[in-house]
Amino acid sequence: MKGFARTISKVPLHWQIGAGVVLGAIAGYFFPGFALKVEALGKLFLRALQMIIVPLVFASVAAGTFGAGSRAVGRLAGKTFVYYILSSLAAIFTGQLLVNVIRPGAGANLSAGFVPHQVKSFSGSLSDVLVNLLPANPVKALADGNMIQIIIFALLCGFFIIRMKNEEKRHSLVTLVEGIFELMMDMTGLIIRFAPIGVFALIAATIARSGMETFAFLGKYAVTVTLGLAFHAFVTLPIIQRVLGGTSPVKICRAVSPALLTAFSTSSSSATLPITLERAERGAGIPNRIAGFVLPLGATVNMDGTALYECVAAVFVAQAYGIDLSFGQQMIVAATALLASVGAAGIPMAGLVMLAVVLKAVGLPLEGVGLILAVDRVLDMMRTTVNVWSDVTGSVVVSRWEGERVKISPVETTLEEAEAAE
Ligand code: ASP
Repeated sequence: MKGFARTISKVPLHWQIGAGVVLGAIAGYFFPGFALKVEALGKLFLRALQMIIVPLVFASVAAGTFGAGSRAVGRLAGKTFVYYILSSLAAIFTGQLLVNVIRPGAGANLSAGFVPHQVKSFSGSLSDVLVNLLPANPVKALADGNMIQIIIFALLCGFFIIRMKNEEKRHSLVTLVEGIFELMMDMTGLIIRFAPIGVFALIAATIARSGMETFAFLGKYAVTVTLGLAFHAFVTLPIIQRVLGGTSPVKICRAVSPALLTAFSTSSSSATLPITLERAERGAGIPNRIAGFVLPLGATVNMDGTALYECVAAVFVAQAYGIDLSFGQQMIVAATALLASVGAAGIPMAGLVMLAVVLKAVGLPLEGVGLILAVDRVLDMMRTTVNVWSDVTGSVVVSRWEGERVKISPVETTLEEAEAAE
């Protein structure tokens, strides 16, 4: 047994997690009873990640502010948003092009006989959204895990800590925040080692519940979304990394692959965030002042995969109901898809709920959400992976724009080597 564990620990971590995905699918399909029994292991893995998120986000954003210096934070934020918008627009353009060329919904002639699902719609005005950026009670924001409010509060804390006149107090606060950050990163490092088991259990339970058809029968619509996501992940983002970031996308991908695979199996950018941060900083060598800002914010607002998916889904619904969208309406779909992706939380199925906003904007039937519900699980897994991949790309690009060199550490090939290095 010991020998077996030794052999396993020699296999690189990303292969172990990959094996977790494949074996999980097999176990879920052939042994659903067993799969549901081990689901608790997956839940445990998710909980361990959730445990880290709030203190990690607070400490990493505040510590990022120290590193950047107060003036530089504004500049960094500006560059970060330029990247977010650029990459999301590229994703939307890809989705729009594909859905209009492939026309996956054409000929479905839906209208009667379709049973609508209950849809939670999005409500609230723009001014409410803006007012809610500021936490009325930071402790509540932390307790509720309200990411945007936590980020804003952390930015303010970081900003004012480095401006404190009293050297001693400033120093202790900086040491405390940086200490919490390092502590959370170390805990994440341990959780990552359990990722292969957690991922195995999560995938097995998903397949046991919804059947392999979730993966096999996807239809033309899902193929369109998949093609779009694949193009964005394998062509657009790597080109952006190479041209704007000046790095090798393959090396970056290897360094952060545990985060990508975790995103795939959890369908949650937020739950993946601790691993994304750990891998981006310790694996891809992105400086903390940049990763600590771009990644937590990106996990909540930068969602290329979701933006692309919203666009394809909305146009697909129009096609399926035989509604012709004018060029102007297509533009409205693109704009609301961007907003919906910003508004979607980094949790499973958030994008599906936000689709109601896009459908409403151009007067499409809300029942469309129910139409695509059946295949949403797998698409969610894929779009979440793209969301995280785009956040990582953003941290690479912004590092270059800030004149920082990204130092990819030699890939942590095996757990044994990692241990030896410590
Ligand atoms: N699950 C996605 C994420 O966490 C959001 C979505 O549903 O599109 O990134």
